[in-house]
Amino acid sequence: MKPWQLIAPNLVLSAPIYAITPQLMTDHGLSGLILDVDNTLIGDDEADVSEDIRLWVELMRSKYPIWLASNNFSDRRIQKVAESLNLPYRSRAGKPSRRVVRQVFEAMELPAAQVAMVGDRLFTDTIVGNRLGLFTILVQPPFEELILKPSVASIFKARSSFLRNWEIWIARKSGVKI
Ligand SMILES: [Mg+2]
Repeated sequence: MKPWQLIAPNLVLSAPIYAITPQLMTDHGLSGLILDVDNTLIGDDEADVSEDIRLWVELMRSKYPIWLASNNFSDRRIQKVAESLNLPYRSRAGKPSRRVVRQVFEAMELPAAQVAMVGDRLFTDTIVGNRLGLFTILVQPPFEELILKPSVASIFKARSSFLRNWEIWIARKSGVKI
């Protein structure tokens, strides 16, 4: 595998995570989901999961196993999100290191190609998924659509997207179609 292929997601969604539907899962032969938390399920400065995300999790959990795998060092924060959604989780996952995500993937007892690693970041979520042979999906942060609304909060959120956008710029320069 060439280095730039590690930062090429199998699927790029120009929408937040709730664009992943049962139909999309079927279309790509997927049976399980490993989800990043910060800026994938919840803004990294937000404490509570939105109703949209909660409803999406309810729908998807009834059909597929779902785990959370976060790099956040605050176990308390990720535990709170996981408990509010009633999902198993790992914090301090160290993505793009494979160790923790591999443990999660093995706990799901599914073939790698049937498990999607979903996240907002190329250099952590996409790389770890590709290294393990999972199906990688890049999603928009759930607050991205709010950026059109001029408020101080939205400006701070835009700033927190800086690294993400920089990674996407690098990927495009490397020839990745995003
Ligand atoms: Mg994230």
